[in-house]
Amino acid sequence: MDKDLKNKSYIDLLERVIAGGQKPFAAQYLFSFIHQKDAEQIADITPLSKTFRQKLIDEGFSIGGIKLLETHDDPDGTIKFVFGMPDGVRIEAVRLRDGDRNTLCISTQAGCRMGCKFCATGQLKFQRNLTAAEIVDQVYQAEKAVGRIDNVVYMGMGEPLDNFDDVVRSVEILNDKLGRHIGIRHITISTCGLPDEIKKLALASVQPRLAVSLHAPDDAIRSKLMRIGSKYPLKEIMAALKTYQSATGNRVTIEYCMIDGINDQIEHARSLVKLLKPLKVNVNLIELNPFGGCRFDPSPPKQIQVFAKSLSDAGIETVIRFKRGRSIKAACGQLGATWLKED
Ligand code: SAH
Ligand code: SF4
Repeated sequence: MDKDLKNKSYIDLLERVIAGGQKPFAAQYLFSFIHQKDAEQIADITPLSKTFRQKLIDEGFSIGGIKLLETHDDPDGTIKFVFGMPDGVRIEAVRLRDGDRNTLCISTQAGCRMGCKFCATGQLKFQRNLTAAEIVDQVYQAEKAVGRIDNVVYMGMGEPLDNFDDVVRSVEILNDKLGRHIGIRHITISTCGLPDEIKKLALASVQPRLAVSLHAPDDAIRSKLMRIGSKYPLKEIMAALKTYQSATGNRVTIEYCMIDGINDQIEHARSLVKLLKPLKVNVNLIELNPFGGCRFDPSPPKQIQVFAKSLSDAGIETVIRFKRGRSIKAACGQLGATWLKED
């Protein structure tokens, strides 16, 4: 049985506390001390009786934590945090500054099984899923360094929906009013598009915003870029998104990485408009960020503008995303790049 109390949602703790013959308020103290006050040890939760605290310790329970190993600053205000897990696994998170707001881009896996060819994380060996505790702790550790985190985006290392249960539990924990209470509209999960999990997310206990990394208007181009392109046809992904949208009413963000000569031509924009017609979407165009060993090139800025205009003219809200954090390898798709051999 998992003995890390940080890994449990409030409901999990409540069940455990009641099963142990305690009053429900004990679960409130446990949860709020761990997730609001950053308690590191059960002994620190002083409103609980000494006997109950000792009982939890004797039963092997503890409060886990990840360790901040390195901090890298980019002149544009982006900060990359490198964290170490107790078993030696390393992951990264990135703080982006938007005016007076802090957005944290967090990781959900060490490595990634999806193998996208334009992504540094996809080239790393997959090590393991992160626990919900390890996911939320990235936010808590970053807050110690930079103050309140306003927005959380699950766009760091790994595919969030490939670690479904811990990712959803981590969203519940971050959103809980007894914890950090980050608004659900301020939490975004980005997926490369796993149809079954997208449908499952529509029925989950929490409804964060959803971003889908599409990168191509058809299956032929998508399969060239993403290993899962041949596994899940776009038709299936679109159907899953339709189901998701009917159930939640949420608009979906489409992420589209602009790659020179591959997916950035005007005819690609036209096909994309057709593909997206049945959905309520907005599109983020991201200039490809290169890393050592990456065989693709970014589209020229002019081409990105032409592409963006074509989408906007068709009535699709389109934003060209600024590239940030490149000098410290903290931009989209560069996480883990410093650990690649080619680099
Ligand atoms: N696995 C999830 C979330 C992590 S990747 C996903 O794929 O959505 C976060 C975003 O970075 C995705 O939109 C991804 O497509 C994009 N990305 C990956 N490599 C990139 C690169 N080299 N340049 C720009 N964006 C990249
Ligand atoms: Fe994984 Fe996302 Fe990178 Fe693809 S883009 S390899 S899904 S982290």
